[in-house]
This record gives sequence, structure tokens and C-alpha cells, in this order.
Amino acid sequence: MQARDCTRCAELAATRKTVVFGAGNADADLMFIGEAPGASEDEQGVPFVGRAGKLLEKLLEEIGHQRADVFIANVLKCRPPGNRDPLPIEIENCHEYLQRQVELIEPTVICTLGNFSTKLLRGDPTGITRLHGQPEVLVLGARAVRLYPIYHPAAALYTPRMLETLREDFTRLPELLALGAPEQPQMQAVPELVEAPEPAESIATARQPPAQPAQRDSDVDQLGLF
Ligand code: URA
Repeated sequence: MQARDCTRCAELAATRKTVVFGAGNADADLMFIGEAPGASEDEQGVPFVGRAGKLLEKLLEEIGHQRADVFIANVLKCRPPGNRDPLPIEIENCHEYLQRQVELIEPTVICTLGNFSTKLLRGDPTGITRLHGQPEVLVLGARAVRLYPIYHPAAALYTPRMLETLREDFTRLPELLALGAPEQPQMQAVPELVEAPEPAESIATARQPPAQPAQRDSDVDQLGLF
């Protein structure tokens, strides 16, 4: 609902039919992140419903998953006119929505499809040709996820060798999912909640490990660690 009336990108807001927020299982372990909606997606308000989407569904089925099991989103929630590439300012404007999606869905594996989402999530310009098929652990916000960059299915539609590689990379997804969530980063101490040391500390107490910060259940929930 927050994204629905977004006007951060004046041109996209003026030319789009719908904001294509994302679709699928909001509790999914596996999340896919593409580039931006195309004409069919803009029309229907759902990501990956065109030819690239059909291929994505087919590849998912080949590894025993249904589209409804996963969550699918894009770097941009609005269609760039004429299917041009997303502009850096548009990617920046839309980034917060994607970050919130990842926080809410808490996937264990994020598959970035192609260059735009891979570069954005890794914060690095290394391209998909070098990175595809190589999982890595990435800390996004408060959580660590398994990032798995793969080719964009739209690119594979036109290049048989790329499709072969994409299919091979897909076959490694089940084993990656089976690993479960990666080790999570340590929570930061919340300064106000750290107990102050006793003023007259005995040597015995001074040798104790430092007191752990007290945590309220609500803080734990907000950090999304459980
Ligand atoms: N390509 C994308 O990157 N996203 C879509 O939603 C459709 C095609």
C-alpha cells in the first residue's frame, strides 16, 4: 500500500499503469529479484508474467517448485517506458521498497536475476557473467542470506547457451535451500539496555565475561532474527 501511489520517479509515475510490487508466498524461503516490470507486468500488476516469466516457471517446475512457493519481485516496481534500462536514480528511489520486502519475507536464498539486481544487492559493479552460479553469504540489513546470482531468463530466451547455463545453475538451488539460513550476524548491544557495572567490583566479578544486554521480546522481533 505504501508503494502503490509512489511518485518518487516522476516519469515512471506518469507513464505506468500499475505499481508491480511483487507476488508469491510472503513466507517464502526462496526469493527472486528481477530488473523491472515489462509491458505485460505493467498491465497485470504481477511480475514475470510474460515470456521470461513462463521460462522462470518452467525452470522452477523442473526443480520441483511451484511459482506459488516463492516470492518474486523486481529492483524497480514501475515499468521504465519503452523497456529502457532502469536509471541509477530510479534504482536508488526504489531501493527502500526492496529492502523492506526482504526484511518482511526473510528469505534464506535470494536469487538475483541478471545484472541490475546482482549489482544492487552486492553493492559492487561485478557483472553476472562472472558471478552466476556462485552462492555467497550476504548481510542485508540485520540478516544474512544466501545470495545466488543467475542469468536473467529474458536473456536466456534468445541465447541457447545461456539457457543451458541458467538451467544448470537452477539445478543447484535445491541443495542451497537445504542448507537453511546462514549463520546470523551478532546482534549489536543496545546501549540503554546494557546493565551498568557495580561500582565496587571485586576481582572475581571483574573476571566474569561482560554482562549481555537485556533484550525485550519486541526488540528481538524487530531485528527479525527469529
Ligand atoms: N523482467 C523482469 O526483470 N521483471 C519482470 O517482472 C518481467 C520481466
